[in-house]
Amino acid sequence: DYCKGGYHPVTVGEQFKDGKYTVVRKLGWGHFSTVWLSRDNVTQKHVALKVVRSAAHYTETAIDEIKLLNKIVAAKPDHPGRKHVVSLLDSFEHKGPNGTHVCMVFEVLGENLLGLIKRWNHRGIPMPLVKQITKQVLLGLDYLHRECGIIHTDLKPENVLIEIGDVEQIVKTFVKEDLKKDDKEDNRGSSNASPKSEKEDEDKHKQREKTADILTREVSGISLDKSNEKKRAEDATAGDIISVKIADLGNACWTGHHFTNDIQTRQYRSPEVILGAKWGASTDVWSMAAMSGTKYGKDDDHIAQIIELLGPFPKSLCLSGKWSQEIFNRKGELRNIHRLRHWALPDVLKEKYHFKEEDAKKIADFLTPLLELTPEKRANAGGMAGGAWLEDTPGMEGMKIPGLEVGSKGEGIEGWANEVKKR
Ligand code: ATP
Ligand code: MG
Ligand code: MG
Repeated sequence: DYCKGGYHPVTVGEQFKDGKYTVVRKLGWGHFSTVWLSRDNVTQKHVALKVVRSAAHYTETAIDEIKLLNKIVAAKPDHPGRKHVVSLLDSFEHKGPNGTHVCMVFEVLGENLLGLIKRWNHRGIPMPLVKQITKQVLLGLDYLHRECGIIHTDLKPENVLIEIGDVEQIVKTFVKEDLKKDDKEDNRGSSNASPKSEKEDEDKHKQREKTADILTREVSGISLDKSNEKKRAEDATAGDIISVKIADLGNACWTGHHFTNDIQTRQYRSPEVILGAKWGASTDVWSMAAMSGTKYGKDDDHIAQIIELLGPFPKSLCLSGKWSQEIFNRKGELRNIHRLRHWALPDVLKEKYHFKEEDAKKIADFLTPLLELTPEKRANAGGMAGGAWLEDTPGMEGMKIPGLEVGSKGEGIEGWANEVKKR
């Protein structure tokens, strides 16, 4: 990975864009890039610098990502969902020994929702926090769909990042901790900027979590001290406000130009995408609602579980996809799976997730329009942000996008249920 076309061997202290940015510490890495905490020497503020691998495929993907990110910056700054999607601050090219690397500069964010879910694993994330996150992601999605003409296509907990409070304050903590470390290897740059073996991969992963932990420690006063469970529970339910942002637009596309039909991570994949049928912005709404769900195996198992939960597919949908014949017969029955047990959403919420009758009903009423099987009829994100269940979201009480009806569908959103080719 450290050859021509690969990662750039970033070192701490390295300058980018003719000295505008100085690298301070690694934040993380992904398939396409390494991401670095850096100081902007003009503003004296800290930023996240993403340095993309140099091979043509990565460069082209990164250029598409920048176009999408620029649209997000400019489309409609006063939409209430704007602040719940990441902001691109700058982009440029950087020449190094392995080639020319596209670089993107973002605001510094904290850990992702998967980390939060894991930390609350045994008791579940407190409901006020769930409502804040849900409402904010729905608002962010509405912004992407309605104002930017963008479909995320990979919405999942890993791609929703928690905003951190006072970045500059927390960076100080970081730097102090770094200085204290005997472990001098940690910030040597190239030798540790990308995984080289499974073992190292694991180490990197741990380090990334640690970095994110430090960044998140100050958020909403949530104490991350594992020994103090009770304090954490109190902290998070004390009415503090969390703020999250939809991130990683690396797989996103335009409502008028889908780059591929091979989209979404299994667990969050919509029925129309599984079946190879037409899809549009509404596919993200499915993923949003599926974030509260379980894991699936093969395509037909996944479809079977959807049927168990939501009832049979309308015939028009089950026969409309490229892969429909493999999953359904001509009568619209599943080919390989016969015995389905009907386990409806409100019952699942009660029996599996132990919600009280009344709460189960409220949550089911909220999720059902988002989990509508037919893409055309699926509720839009912005409307549902005003749903009854989110009425009492701490810090966002009664907040709605003006003029949007709860449960309204693709009205006003181009490409809601299929790709719209322009001119
Ligand atoms: P992927 O394989 O997920 O597509 P990628 O190369 O496109 O990876 P990102 O997912 O954008 O890279 O970023 C890699 C990691 O860097 C993230 O998982 C996260 O830990 C960290 N990171 C990215 N952006 C930020 C940010 N703005 N603030 C803090 N950390 C960030
Ligand atoms: Mg990512
Ligand atoms: Mg990516």
